Amino acid sequence: MNHPMKTRVIPHARASIGEEEIDAVVGTLRSGWLTGGPMVLAFEQAVSAYLGGPQAVSTNSNTMGLLITLKALGIGPGDEVIIPTNTFVATAMSAHHLGATVVPVDIDPHTLSLAPDRVAAALTPRSRCLLPVHLGGLPRDMEPLHALAARHGLRLVEDAAHALSASRGGEAVGAAHRSDATVFSFYATKTITCGEGGMVTTQNADLAARLRRLRHHGIDRDAFNRQESRSWDYDVVEDGYKANMTDIAAAIGLAQLRKLPALQARRQAIAHRYREAFAPLPLHLPTAPPAGDSHAWHLFIIRLRPEAPLDRDGFMLAMQRRGIQCGLHYIPLHRHSFWRQRLGLTPQAFPVAEEVFASSVTLPLYAAMSDDDVTYVIETVGDLLSC
Ligand SMILES: *Cc1c(COP(=O)(O)O)cnc(C)c1O
Repeated sequence: MNHPMKTRVIPHARASIGEEEIDAVVGTLRSGWLTGGPMVLAFEQAVSAYLGGPQAVSTNSNTMGLLITLKALGIGPGDEVIIPTNTFVATAMSAHHLGATVVPVDIDPHTLSLAPDRVAAALTPRSRCLLPVHLGGLPRDMEPLHALAARHGLRLVEDAAHALSASRGGEAVGAAHRSDATVFSFYATKTITCGEGGMVTTQNADLAARLRRLRHHGIDRDAFNRQESRSWDYDVVEDGYKANMTDIAAAIGLAQLRKLPALQARRQAIAHRYREAFAPLPLHLPTAPPAGDSHAWHLFIIRLRPEAPLDRDGFMLAMQRRGIQCGLHYIPLHRHSFWRQRLGLTPQAFPVAEEVFASSVTLPLYAAMSDDDVTYVIETVGDLLSC
């Protein structure tokens, strides 16, 4: 009988979960407090401290964090929210569900995210908010967007789902000194995870207080803060949502946050090996941040040059056959039926995103990869792409 060769499988992403997270969850379950309570408070304080002190309001996802933030900023029907077409659908859905009009715009080929000149061209008297993404964890230059926002009286909310641990000009993404707010994700594949979870950071204490209400039905206090004497008493002061984090999730998040510097260093080291090894290949490598800045390296997105021996689909299939699962970030908004039909979008309006979409592949990059895994990816990519 023939034994097939045992092939290695390298998933596209895998969380680094250890005994610390497992103990934290068990401890929380034994504590008897399951929903938002002491662990949520501790996690919010820890994220705030890590980022240098902004207000931090946890949610059950980045998506709901974006939604309640836009709602708190007064965005609703008739308002236009400008979003890069190359993002996960969550960025757009948050604005859409508030009745706002999503305006996807083309991207910059280096940041793979909002191109400031395309934003300027998309402005109308109804423009209300810019919603840029730090794609892949590259801390993008916010200066041109802040300038546009200031000149046109726009709100600015950063989708930092990929960017916890990124910094630019000595300031952490999420310090939120000039933006209205920044929103992180702790989804299973992100730089740290709670299973599911999100965090809004802002320097605006009133906004933070409003977000705490909006994540909990618009109730003026949460279960943990009710007074002992009148623990039954509460008032609904606006139409909120159910979007709070649980203590179980926060316990995982706290354990993950303690590991973040080590996880980040490991991602950085893998990205460094990839960059060196792939330099001679027919690829565009991901943009590196300026010296002194920190890339979160959530994603390592390569783009095949026209002279590469395989096209994108051929390359992904060949990688898959060798046990390496690649990703694609993203199928742009304008290629999804819902957005295309709803907004009447055509690919011609997004030439850069179209070219990036046709040529890009995301390689596995996560702290749990072994040196052997990394070597195998490097050798396989080299094998497939050497001309
Ligand atoms: C993952 C992701 C989101 C959504 O995060 P959730 O926590 O799953 O809601 C939003 N935007 C981007 C760019 C993402 O990658």
